[in-house]
Amino acid sequence: MQNTYFTPGPAELYPTFQQHLQVAMDEQIGSISHRSQRFRDIYKFTDEQLRILLSIPATHGIFFMGSASEVWERMLLNCVEHESFHLVNGSFSQKFYDYAVALHKHTHVLEKPFGEGFDAADIQVPEYAEVVCLAQNETSSGVQMKTSEIHKLKRKYPKKLFCVDMVSSAPYPDLDFGIIDSAFFSVQKAFGMPAGLGVWIASEACLAKAEQLQKSDTLTIGAHHTLPTLWKQYKTFETPATPNALFIYLLGKIAEDFNRIGIETIRKQTEEKARTIYKFLDSSDTYQSFVKQERHRSQTVVVATTQKPAAEVIAAAKMKHMIVGSGYGKFKESQIRIANFPATSAEQISALIEQLKQ
Ligand SMILES: *Cc1c(COP(=O)(O)O)cnc(C)c1O
Repeated sequence: MQNTYFTPGPAELYPTFQQHLQVAMDEQIGSISHRSQRFRDIYKFTDEQLRILLSIPATHGIFFMGSASEVWERMLLNCVEHESFHLVNGSFSQKFYDYAVALHKHTHVLEKPFGEGFDAADIQVPEYAEVVCLAQNETSSGVQMKTSEIHKLKRKYPKKLFCVDMVSSAPYPDLDFGIIDSAFFSVQKAFGMPAGLGVWIASEACLAKAEQLQKSDTLTIGAHHTLPTLWKQYKTFETPATPNALFIYLLGKIAEDFNRIGIETIRKQTEEKARTIYKFLDSSDTYQSFVKQERHRSQTVVVATTQKPAAEVIAAAKMKHMIVGSGYGKFKESQIRIANFPATSAEQISALIEQLKQ
């Protein structure tokens, strides 16, 4: 019997993945040249599907990376001359900050305890910060920042570039790319694919900043996948290095499937499934939602505190072919994490809840 993966990445594969993979094999996409018209058509198709899905305007480019964490480095190298500002409330937002420190940027940080979230009213962006870096969904603690709060903050600081980590929530967040400069995700989370592709969305304002920094004698924007080279190639739907054409193809097909269902429906289904899980946790004697503030509760990665040792809960679910994520870091013993991605149905979520009740 097959397992159902409720892990927050790698996660359950999207149900159509296998048939798209079969078509890709039949069409020999693993062997085509990345300088061929066939590849340019694939890039263009995936670009179009992602634009429809996430409402990405023509002012923004869509680029392919090895993974999301690569984008941390690209963003910092290309768009920060001196100072970056980070909202940190868990391990992933912390790592974005750590990359900035490693790249010798002058970093500012606003930290919240694990399990707590940010609202625009809490935040003062330092005067000289050039880029505001934040995680829409902090996967380690199950905390979200509402897109309305992200937009409110951006409107307060319209001149700062905003870079949003939407790795474990995309396509759920309805980010307004009319004002948000950059965002990124990996495909092994809510897109239901195996790991191996990161997607970077960046605006013309980001490109202008990178071109300005490129002229500096004292600073480097790096050599690999600089934004100006990515953008130049992107104009003809090509890439600077040999890309993962197979995964770019598969991402386009899954984005097309999402578009057929409709993003509004996907968002509604995500919220309904999340409501079911949180309702169970709130009424349970043996589990609790780790995140107390309702508005900060992630819609895509639910973190629950367990009364029994978390390892026992996870092992019991595994016996029933349901794979649940463990708590992050020091919460390994006392928490479980449940991914609520489009690949798992309301029925599968209900079956998991029935299992957790036992
Ligand atoms: C998984 C994750 C990342 C890192 O993604 P990789 O594909 O491992 O590079 C970054 N941010 C968040 C919020 C994540 O969940």
